[in-house]
Amino acid sequence: MSEDKKKVENVIIVGGGPAGYTAALYTARANLEPLVFEGFQWGGQLQNTTDVENYPGYPEGIMGPEMMSQFRAQAERFGTRFVTDDVDRVELSDGGVQKVFLGDEEHRARTVILAMGAEPKRLGIPGEMELGGRGVSTCGVCDGAFFKGHRVLVIGGGDSAMEDSIFISKFADELTIVNRRDEFRASKIMRDRALAVDNIDTLTPYVPLEFVAGEDGKLARVRLRHAETGEESAVEATGAFVAIGHVPRSEVVAGQVATDEDGYIKVEAGSTRTDLAGVFAVGDVVDHTYRQAVTAAGTGCMGALDAERYLRDSAPPVEAHWFPGGEPVEMEI
Ligand code: NDP
Repeated sequence: MSEDKKKVENVIIVGGGPAGYTAALYTARANLEPLVFEGFQWGGQLQNTTDVENYPGYPEGIMGPEMMSQFRAQAERFGTRFVTDDVDRVELSDGGVQKVFLGDEEHRARTVILAMGAEPKRLGIPGEMELGGRGVSTCGVCDGAFFKGHRVLVIGGGDSAMEDSIFISKFADELTIVNRRDEFRASKIMRDRALAVDNIDTLTPYVPLEFVAGEDGKLARVRLRHAETGEESAVEATGAFVAIGHVPRSEVVAGQVATDEDGYIKVEAGSTRTDLAGVFAVGDVVDHTYRQAVTAAGTGCMGALDAERYLRDSAPPVEAHWFPGGEPVEMEI
C-alpha cells in the first residue's frame, strides 16, 4: 500500500481485559471486524489472579487467565483480529480518523474504544510481588473468601481499605487495618462502619517495609516501621491486602480526551461516549467505583453498541470511507 493510501478500520479497541474483549465480541458479531491492541501481557488484571468465583456463569469458579483465554477465543470466533503488543501512541480526533501507533506503524479507524484498564497501586516493597497469590493480594472482593480463619492485614486508609476490610472480616478471624497516618482518608461513614466490626482493629501510624514468607513459601509476617519514631517491628499475618488505590492506565491518551483529576476518562452518564465524537471508553479506565470483571464486561458491551450506532448514524469524515457492511476500505488521504 502506498504511503498515502491507508486502510481505515471501523473500530480499533485498545486494551485486552474483560472490557476490551467484550467490546470486540460485540463489534465482531456486528460485522465490524474489530482490531484489538490487547497489550503484550494480554488479559489485563485477571491475568494476575487465581480463582475467580464471582463471575456469573462459572458456579465452580475459574482461573483468571483461563477466563481471559475464553473471552479472547469467543471474540476471535467472530473475526476479531489481535495485535499482542502495547500501543506506543494514540492520536485522537473529534469525529475524524482515529490513529493508533505501534512504533512508526500507523493504524487508522473511524472509532476507537479505549479499554486500557487500571492497575492497583503497589507499595514497592520486598515480597509484595513474590508473594502475590501466596498471601498478598490487591483485591479484597476477589480473594477475601480464601482467607477463612486467617489473621489478615489490610494496608491503606481510604474507602477501598474500609470496604475491603468489611468484606474480608466476614472470612478472616482477625483483621488489622494498617495506615501510615493516624487519620484515615476514608469517608466517615465507611470508617465508622469498618471500625464497628468486632474482629477489625487498627494499627497506626505504620508503614509496611516487607512481606516475609514462612517455610511453606506463603506469607507469614509483615515488617513495619512506625512512621514517627522509625521503630521497626513485625506482625504475624497469613494474609495481607494492599488497598492503597488504583491508577487508570490512560497515559497513552493523556491531554487528548477529558479525564478527571485522577486520570480516569470521563464519559457521558449512562453511555461510553467521551468528549470526542467517535471515541468511547469502557471498563476500569473509566470506573473507579466498581472495578469488577463483570462490570467491565458490561461497559465493554455498551462501548460496542455506542460505536456501532455512531458508525451507523454519522457521516464518514472527509478522509474516511466506511460501508455499512463493515468492509474497511483503502482510500487516498
Ligand atoms: P484513596 O486514594 O482514597 O486512599 C488511598 C489510601 O492508601 C490512603 O489512606 C493513603 O494514605 C494510602 N496510601 C497511598 N499510598 C500509600 C503508600 N505508598 N503506603 C501506604 N499507604 C498508602 O484510594 P481508594 O482506592 O481508597 O479510593 C479511591 C476513590 O474511590 C475514592 O474517591 C473513594 O472514595 C472511592 N471509593 C468509594 C467506595 C465506596 O463508596 N463504596 C469504595 C472504594 C473506593 P494517605 O491518606 O496518607 O495518602
